[in-house]
Amino acid sequence: MKIDTNFAMTINGQMVTTDNTQPVYNPATRSVFAQVPDASRTQLDEAVSAARQAFGLWRQTPVEERQAALERFADLLEENAEGFMALLTREQGKPRSGAEWEVFGSVAWLRAIATQRLPEELVEETDERRVVTRFTPVGVVGAIVPWNFPILLTIWKIAPALMAGCTMIVKPSPYTPLCDLKMVELAQQILPPGVLSAVSGGDELGKWMTAHPDINKIAFTGSTETGRHVMKSASETVKRVTLELGGNDPAIVLPDVDAKALAPELFWAAFMNNAQFCNATKRLYIHEDVYDEVRDALVEFSASNINVGDGADADTHLGPIQNAMQYGKVQDYFADCHSNGYQFALGGEIDENAAGWFVPVSLVDNPPEDSRIVREEPFGPILPLLKWSDENDVIARANDTIYGLGASVWGKDLEAVERIGSQLEAGTVWLNEVHQYSPFQAFGGHKQSGLGCENSLHGLMEYNNWQTITLNKQSGAGEE
Ligand code: NAD
Repeated sequence: MKIDTNFAMTINGQMVTTDNTQPVYNPATRSVFAQVPDASRTQLDEAVSAARQAFGLWRQTPVEERQAALERFADLLEENAEGFMALLTREQGKPRSGAEWEVFGSVAWLRAIATQRLPEELVEETDERRVVTRFTPVGVVGAIVPWNFPILLTIWKIAPALMAGCTMIVKPSPYTPLCDLKMVELAQQILPPGVLSAVSGGDELGKWMTAHPDINKIAFTGSTETGRHVMKSASETVKRVTLELGGNDPAIVLPDVDAKALAPELFWAAFMNNAQFCNATKRLYIHEDVYDEVRDALVEFSASNINVGDGADADTHLGPIQNAMQYGKVQDYFADCHSNGYQFALGGEIDENAAGWFVPVSLVDNPPEDSRIVREEPFGPILPLLKWSDENDVIARANDTIYGLGASVWGKDLEAVERIGSQLEAGTVWLNEVHQYSPFQAFGGHKQSGLGCENSLHGLMEYNNWQTITLNKQSGAGEE
């Protein structure tokens, strides 16, 4: 199968195109290099009815066969890894190292989730009664995904859904549809028609999905703002929803750190994937005793080690901003900092004439706590550095946000690190590390960073109904 051409939707196992298409850009050149179908409502209906039909069979398919299908899917993805990595860099902008992390991570995730099971619970076994709680698939699931990790975040949905016995329709982000369309096409080699489909289109298509009466659940990753719309629309048909939303992750640096040694870790905590990362450190709280040292070490590390450029170039560490819409939002944060007179310790000027949507790594030197760059999620490489002196105060500041996705604490005094970490309001709290994920650990957001979770048996549960079956052994039907 060719990965880099012929982009089509998959509906009921068939490749489907449309007369209307949407352009896909290479963010490193701002030029269109592919077109994808723009699904009609009728095509969505066809995908849903195929998924409904396939659900009847797929849910009855023995779990060992579903496991084998996911493992074969992992093999296919691995065999085609080179093609997917090149395509991911071209449509998303990330450099080779990021593409490797994402594609091989997806392969590992498929294999790991394939081993997961939710065992039945025997609640009561007595002479009178047997009570069992078991888990049944929720049905047809719509997966709506963003543009920052288009492969991995889609696999995080496909793998548990298919293991649970659900069928799924994937809607990629309009900015990065290519890898997702090709992944679903590839999966047709091993899945019955209708089990996994893909439809491409704009935000409107997402709305049709959340309102569709025959979709039972929406698995959504994206912004908090869109998450609110998804939840509202899904409420009409009481759909299940899993929402993985935005974040404004704080990192707290204690006074006993070795600034130079820590700088690379703090740098990547904030700037991995060019900071287009739900879990990027978006507020860096540095103790006042080491503030200058840590700031200077970050500037030094970035200036001497980091190249921003086309992800296809071997010496690039950070690619462009993925799309024009996001580039505009990031420009706006720079303008806001300038107009308020905040100082930049590094960067601060965007070259708007660059070939691609490039933004320099930028550090804002101790802006006010109520500034936009501190309160909001810039989703680009501009990081506020903030001073703290009192432990209770920094914990309160870290928690003073509508978000609660991730947080981290860094220091040699492990007691202090754990004491502070245990008071942070976030779905994942990393202590002296960051961005450590596993298919076996629950991932999700507190507060307005989300609802439900992905990964682990808790994530698998999100694709199941629980069902309690009781048997009265002593009063058989019609008997005394
Ligand atoms: P977005 O919310 O703009 O779009 C996400 C998806 O929703 C896209 O496929 C889009 O077409 C679709 N969509 C848009 N409007 C819709 C509507 N009204 N109904 C249904 N679907 C709709 O987000 P984005 O800009 O693609 O992604 C960036 C955001 O995602 C950031 O806020 C980031 O923090 C968040 N994110 C969260 C996680 C997580 O796991 N918590 C992971 C990655 C990204």
